[in-house]
Amino acid sequence: MLFETYGMIVPEKGTCPNYELFYMFYSLNIKQNLLANHLFNEVKSQLPVMSLEIKESINHKLQEIDSILPAMGLKREKTEREEYNISILNDDLYLRRKYFDGNYEEFINYITNIQQLITLYSSFENTIKSYLITQGKNADERVFQKKLLDEVCSINHKFISKFNDLYKNFTQNDFTVIWKYFTFIRNLYTHSSGVIDNDFIKEMDKIKNKITDMINRNFEFIERNLFPNNYNILRTDNFIENDLFIITEIELRFFRNFIIYVWEAIYLSHYNLSKKNYVSSHIKFNLEHNQFKFHLIQTHDESEALNRMQTFYTKKMSNFYISTYVCPNCTKEPVVLYKTLYHPNISLMKITQQEEHKDINMERVFTCPHCRSFFISKYKERLSDNNGNNLLNLNDDYLLILEQFNIEGTPYPPNSEENIESELNLTMQINQLETLLNDLKNNRKKY
Ligand SMILES: [Zn+2]
Repeated sequence: MLFETYGMIVPEKGTCPNYELFYMFYSLNIKQNLLANHLFNEVKSQLPVMSLEIKESINHKLQEIDSILPAMGLKREKTEREEYNISILNDDLYLRRKYFDGNYEEFINYITNIQQLITLYSSFENTIKSYLITQGKNADERVFQKKLLDEVCSINHKFISKFNDLYKNFTQNDFTVIWKYFTFIRNLYTHSSGVIDNDFIKEMDKIKNKITDMINRNFEFIERNLFPNNYNILRTDNFIENDLFIITEIELRFFRNFIIYVWEAIYLSHYNLSKKNYVSSHIKFNLEHNQFKFHLIQTHDESEALNRMQTFYTKKMSNFYISTYVCPNCTKEPVVLYKTLYHPNISLMKITQQEEHKDINMERVFTCPHCRSFFISKYKERLSDNNGNNLLNLNDDYLLILEQFNIEGTPYPPNSEENIESELNLTMQINQLETLLNDLKNNRKKY
């Protein structure tokens, strides 16, 4: 399938610097986009209000300055500029009304998709150009943007067959025409923010038949119909001058996957990478005897941190719920640990599959989403007995083991049908009271 992946084949250190660079840039860009999308989904309903708040705060800033300056005996400098309407929002409201019918979500998608296309395109283009130079291309000789992939095909004779092994039977003409297609779109975005002009329509018209042919040859009818609104996959006609070109989700996914596959094919045509190791039990977890001193939420900052965090870890990892312990491994800013319970208690070996963990019995396990660590209190002891074991600073294996801990765990204390929310609320109320008492004590000292 074409549109399946966000990930890229991981480079081995010190193999191909240009591929490594693209991999790094691409990863950052995609993570940022996924994160932004996630956040937008969370706050979708609040977008109109948020947008007003931004406007308010911009006005507020100006008023603030206007009230501070006279207090300092100064006056705001007045020039002719002040006589005009100044805003950052007028244009954006105009665009939104004109092209998105007031829909904030589509409008934000449009903005982020433009950014994604432009940045990925230029990162791909730059790293490929540098790669061509390492392959003997004269650095002074100009590489025409539209011909970038033609250059790759003519300099690397293994590229097309490697691409076909990995993916689909694209011909050199297919590479040429797909790259042209996305170059036109990229140029439309960089030159006119996506407002369709006559040149764009003419250019698209010229490659229209080739694109249709490429799609028909390479994509099954079924594949094309997975996207009912856009069964052509790449649009080449019915454009209207002065309308906005809004790249569809499917076009963007095609673009993203295409550039990944091209770079991967180039990379693998030069290097024999070791293939993926499927056996997850090969992962070794280093259990360390606890050296930390655990403590419950004490300070104002720590209860603020608690208030910011979700009650349950994630929708999927919902057997972990928020505790009132602070992560001892995160010292920069307070992070509150999530906790899951086992009743009856189980052996850690059930989670890690490691024989040497057989005799470690657990009732409760705590985890920090920030430093990706687990803190396991000793059987029948509390975490604050400081006597347990930890798995610290896990990387990619963290999610794997988190899932295992989550499958076996429960958020509810034994013999209780109690909703943990009430327990949590009580703890929070106690915390607030404690903070209040502390404040009172401190104030009394002062006066
Ligand atoms: Zn931590």
